[in-house]
Amino acid sequence: MLCFQGISVDYGTGGDTVHALADASLCVERGTVLALIGASGTGKSTLLRVGAGLLRPAAGTVTSNGAPIDARSMRIGFLPQNYGLLAWKTVRENILLGVQIKGEWRAERRSAFTELAADLGLTDLLERYPHELSGGQQQRVGLARVFLLAPDLLLMDEPFSALDTITRESMQEVFLSLWKKHAVTTVLVTHYVEEALTLAGRIAVMGGRPGHVIELIDNPFAGDPAYRFSPEFFAMGQELRAKIAGGGV
Ligand code: ADP
Ligand code: MG
Repeated sequence: MLCFQGISVDYGTGGDTVHALADASLCVERGTVLALIGASGTGKSTLLRVGAGLLRPAAGTVTSNGAPIDARSMRIGFLPQNYGLLAWKTVRENILLGVQIKGEWRAERRSAFTELAADLGLTDLLERYPHELSGGQQQRVGLARVFLLAPDLLLMDEPFSALDTITRESMQEVFLSLWKKHAVTTVLVTHYVEEALTLAGRIAVMGGRPGHVIELIDNPFAGDPAYRFSPEFFAMGQELRAKIAGGGV
């Protein structure tokens, strides 16, 4: 179980201080997906950066089974909003970047690499550069990189937001099939209600200024894109939209 407990974050100092988060708390069960959803500016990206260890909170803790987490005790895969691809490196080099930084490119990873590239439809694109790829293909490279790391925790910031609707929905399905194979504990930021309902077993609605978690919801529709067409899914989407618009104020 991974828990964010009483997280507060301020940006800047003095009169320019922005209180981004105040007392944000939530827990993620191991081997599940949790979605952070909420209006723009409610601190979703900030909370994810705290989880990734990129930002130290003014107050609060992030723990795994009660022990504080850090990059040494836990392998964290972070997929930023722009996929974090390097323009001057090929697809192959971009995928390998994560494990190479960790100094772990060994023979046993080779078969994992080949399998991931095949699963993500990248086998014929390995020698291309990012600018020679569509948005959906770039996104697949980002996914291949983080899944090759075999992280204990996967953090994704609006991973599919830059894609058109059709590509986004097909990438959600690609993610689900990868995720079912690897079952990595995942926190995913999204501002699409349908994306949260399709991917995440638990949904944290963020709101307020400063931001915090205003509600945690169990979602029965996660893992099966076929629910997208059911009236119950639609109704729950409407309910979520209302909570987000309410924003805890
Ligand atoms: P979200 O991802 O939900 O849109 P963010 O976490 O990006 O929200 O931002 C939360 C609040 O913190 C916003 O008011 C935003 O303007 C502010 N903020 C985010 N990053 C910075 C920064 N580097 N410096 C100052 N303020 C920031
Ligand atoms: Mg954000």
